[in-house]
Amino acid sequence: MSVVEMELHPNTESCATIYGPVPSRRHGLSLGINLGDPIHKICTWGCVYCQCGMGQRLVSNSILEAPTASQVLELFRAALAKNTVLDSVTLAGNSEPCSHPEFAQIVRQIVQIKTDQNAKWIFNCLTNGSELDQPGMAEACELLDECWIKLDCGTDDLFRRLNRPVDRIGNVREQVRRILKLKNRMIQTLLWNHADPRLANYSEPSLGALIELFREIQPQRIHLTTVSRIPAVLGIQPVAEQDLERYAERIRQVTNAQVEVYPTRVESF
Ligand code: SF4
Repeated sequence: MSVVEMELHPNTESCATIYGPVPSRRHGLSLGINLGDPIHKICTWGCVYCQCGMGQRLVSNSILEAPTASQVLELFRAALAKNTVLDSVTLAGNSEPCSHPEFAQIVRQIVQIKTDQNAKWIFNCLTNGSELDQPGMAEACELLDECWIKLDCGTDDLFRRLNRPVDRIGNVREQVRRILKLKNRMIQTLLWNHADPRLANYSEPSLGALIELFREIQPQRIHLTTVSRIPAVLGIQPVAEQDLERYAERIRQVTNAQVEVYPTRVESF
């Protein structure tokens, strides 16, 4: 693979353990929970479009700098008491949530809080799915109301160059194998353009290869999104709404998935 020059944007890497509620395009008024280090992004992937910058890539399978489960839950309970009207509670933030060493315990306790309060908010997680091979991880993800797993690139070349996973994550086939561990499959796919075609995934053959992967995975739901915040790599551009809609139609022809399109509100970066 040839080396591609990337001009980086100095994005903010910090994110509080509890943030918001924020009005989310996909999840309504959402209280966010960041299970990573509040001051430093660390993730098993290093997506070129990440709004938290390049940060640090996590080689091992747990973030040691993360707040403990009891710290997270104490902060969460306090925030919940102050924010009684919510559409969702979302595990996301500046890092990969499933890399938290106590992820399953945190999920179980929040599910219990939701049950105890008879709350109506959707409990969801935005993840790249890279830790689904860890013991108990798939079971913990199935406890969520919605677990949205990333699948952006259909070819190994683009996956390595644009999602930039650490070596242990493997290739696209490995990503699909992990996704198939879940019964309730929800996929988030972000598409983007770039003047240098080596830095864009809105291109063939990746789009066609992704269609074949959707056919194999048969997700219940797919969120098709594009960039709407400042990406880690400069020059990344949103895909036009009509192009996202056209691609959504291609997916609908090969799956029974409910495909929802989320165009950007920002014209360019
Ligand atoms: S998986 Fe998410 S947090 Fe990790 S680099 Fe990609 S966009 Fe950023």
